[in-house]
Amino acid sequence: MDISVVIPLYNEAESLPELEAWIRRVMDQNGFSYEILFIDDGSTDDSWEVIERLKKDNQAIRGVSFRRNYGKSPALNTGFARAQGDVVITMDADLQDSPDEIPELYRMIKEDGYDLVSGWKQKRYDPLSKTLPTKLFNATARRVSGIHNLHDFNCGLKAYRGKVVKRIEVYGDMHRYIPYLAKLAGFNRIGEKVVHHQARKYGKTKFGLDRFVNGYLDLATLWFTGKFGGKPMHFFGLLGSLMFFLGLVAVILVGAIKLWNLHHGNPYTLVTSSPYFYIALVTMILGTQLFLTGFLGELVVRNSTRRNEYEIETEIK
Ligand code: UDP
Ligand code: MG
Repeated sequence: MDISVVIPLYNEAESLPELEAWIRRVMDQNGFSYEILFIDDGSTDDSWEVIERLKKDNQAIRGVSFRRNYGKSPALNTGFARAQGDVVITMDADLQDSPDEIPELYRMIKEDGYDLVSGWKQKRYDPLSKTLPTKLFNATARRVSGIHNLHDFNCGLKAYRGKVVKRIEVYGDMHRYIPYLAKLAGFNRIGEKVVHHQARKYGKTKFGLDRFVNGYLDLATLWFTGKFGGKPMHFFGLLGSLMFFLGLVAVILVGAIKLWNLHHGNPYTLVTSSPYFYIALVTMILGTQLFLTGFLGELVVRNSTRRNEYEIETEIK
């Protein structure tokens, strides 16, 4: 099969018939063999009935319906697990992404050798309250991930080489960072294509402004797990040692000041009247705790069943 189109959706009943007809038209015109995977993320409108109705006229449709709303990432992950096409394309269900982009995305994966091609909504039809923070968000994501050629990490329209989606795990709200996930999994050929974007025709957006706060927290998580996920002690041990060392210096200062005063017969003072006493107290406790956190982290890693799972590309036997 050439293409799997994975579509996560939450209360998008009005858009679905138009979207399905449009995808079918593009696929038929280009002679692709394909499947459409609708992942109904616990919709409370009649999205699922619409999908069942569409299925009657188009056998290429498959669908999954969640019992409740889990989020876009779980929906994508479920679609990825089921996708069978050589190339997997994801797009939003709200008609903001254009199916006309599919043939070129497919060609870029098949002929240009990309592992992942992300859409770039260069001209966006979204409110300013969204486009402005998005710019900032993408700049940070580029820096942290080291994928410098992407302008639009969170574009819903993306194309993947089939095996890429089988080797990344999208959970929580991590769909914003799929290119980063792919890179961490060892897929380096990440490209971009300017795509046409439309204003939302039906329904309303499912994400609020909290997306930006959560987005940054998730980026921190990915950076940390990507860098230290397999060796937490390298992070906590270093921080802990630095802290402890600071404390040690402060303790020595406290002792030295005390001895100096005694020696010179200065008036008697308590060690607790020295600021270094408190610095020593705090940093030595924090340092020890950071160090212990490192040990705990190592114990967790040691118990992971996946600690020695590697993706082997080729092998000579
Ligand atoms: N979506 C989903 N589960 C959710 C929220 C959103 O499957 O919990 C789907 C939604 O139906 C749409 C896509 O994810 O197909 C993108 O959502 P939306 O258009 O609201 O995001 P925006 O375009 O505002 O970034
Ligand atoms: Mg949208």
